Amino acid sequence: MNPNAHAQAALPQRLRHFIDGQFVDSAETFANLSPIDGRELSRVVEADAAAVDAAVKAARRAQQGPWRDLSASARADWLHRIADGIEARFDDFVAAEVADTGRPIAQARSLDIARGIANFRTFADLLRTAPGEFFETATDDGGKLLNYVTRKPLGVVGVISPWNLPLLLFTWKVAPALAMGNCVVAKPSEETPTSATLLAEVMRDIQLPAGVFNLIHGHGANAAGEWLTRHPGVDAITFTGESKTGSAIMKAVADGVKNVSFELGGKNAAVVFADADFDAAVEGVLKSSFTNAGQVCLCSERVYVERPIFERFVAALKEKTEALKIGSPYDAGTTTGPLISKGHREKVLGYYKLALAEGATVVTGGGVPQFGNACDEGAFVQPTIWTGLPDDARCVTEEIFGPVCHIAPFDSEDEVIRRVNDSAYGLAASIWTTHLARGHRVAQQIETGIVWVNAWFVRDLRTPFGGAKLSGFGREGGRHSMDFYSELTNVCVRIA
Ligand code: NAD
Repeated sequence: MNPNAHAQAALPQRLRHFIDGQFVDSAETFANLSPIDGRELSRVVEADAAAVDAAVKAARRAQQGPWRDLSASARADWLHRIADGIEARFDDFVAAEVADTGRPIAQARSLDIARGIANFRTFADLLRTAPGEFFETATDDGGKLLNYVTRKPLGVVGVISPWNLPLLLFTWKVAPALAMGNCVVAKPSEETPTSATLLAEVMRDIQLPAGVFNLIHGHGANAAGEWLTRHPGVDAITFTGESKTGSAIMKAVADGVKNVSFELGGKNAAVVFADADFDAAVEGVLKSSFTNAGQVCLCSERVYVERPIFERFVAALKEKTEALKIGSPYDAGTTTGPLISKGHREKVLGYYKLALAEGATVVTGGGVPQFGNACDEGAFVQPTIWTGLPDDARCVTEEIFGPVCHIAPFDSEDEVIRRVNDSAYGLAASIWTTHLARGHRVAQQIETGIVWVNAWFVRDLRTPFGGAKLSGFGREGGRHSMDFYSELTNVCVRIA
């Protein structure tokens, strides 16, 4: 039996755009392929420039019509209705995410879809509770000024998202953009179009005013993604994806001087001090290197372990890694699914080969697992650990975005801080130590947007999120999202 059959049954077979409150077709289509076994899951329509234009115009009409004039409280109600709508079709969303990505079902339930819902609820609640800004100022002539800050929507926001956490990252942008009174034209990754289509069905079913949320499907460069960034009717672009794509988008928006927010790639480090809770650190690094087959922007591909516990740590992580169960998410006990596509697998396997040329010792993995079933047509690779590479090896400096880490020993705090910071990226780091002051001290010196101490990939959605250097700029999350998705006006009134 086709292992995808039960999931596919509930999912649309032709994924269409959602423009001005209607599902809209395009003549051109492309295949949405399963990373589990390579079969075609659905046909996806490819937007032409006219479809992108229609979506932007619909968003503009809606923004200047009903949406902009809604009270914050009424917009918050809509966000909760969207969250309710996802909740009501929770299992369909799980099926979509598992079919498109091959991730373990438990992860789709507890992380992806749960966070999709939380994104809408969090920004709805923030809208209702956001404090205002007021200042009284004395003037030279003995008078008094009252300053207060108002927020206006930016207008039409273009949302472009990647494939690694499809609904989670898509809604992470759509929710605050809508919350602040903008209308959106959103393009999910061409690799993972299904959950965004289900979200459009939710928008239709709850009768969100037409044009407030528009979905276009298609590719990036010289296609729907790029046309969206270049469209003069788009006021801001919020993008998550590769650093080189961020660079291309930055050039595309330069002429229009559009606002941009970029959440880009990473080459994140985990630092394990000899005083760490050993078992917690091994478990933490196992998660930070191999969750979602290493396809989380926050995953650690560089692991630094203090020399006295280096050998023991490598052996313990090897044992745990070899106990991961790779395979179809529809098989009981699977912990690790495939990469997103055979194309991405070629890239990751290229690094597996390069590591050998660069002199790595392969502690475990390094190849492609054999299943003897349909999964042999999927995009699986073995979780892999290397040691022995120099800090300037390409496998230690470039983002691979697969289930792989390199472990290196270190001798002092200053040395490891220098090595962690010696990176073109600056997204995330995790530190494992039981020394309280050291945890804080090291965290303060690491040049990344987020530093975890004795934790990884846990978040409070009110905190700022983003990266330094090639990992992007701008911060989203909580009031930082509210700032990005609105134009602030200071109103200054002489009151005396
Ligand atoms: P990608 O940059 O290839 O594609 C992301 C999106 O951009 C897709 O929707 C794609 O169609 C579109 N796109 C591609 N070229 C474009 C162009 N020229 N103009 C406009 N749109 C274009 O990224 P990906 O492979 O889908 O995702 C993986 C990358 O995303 C990794 O580098 C990962 O680190 C990064 N990422 C970062 C974060 C973060 O929060 N910092 C989160 C998740 C993923």
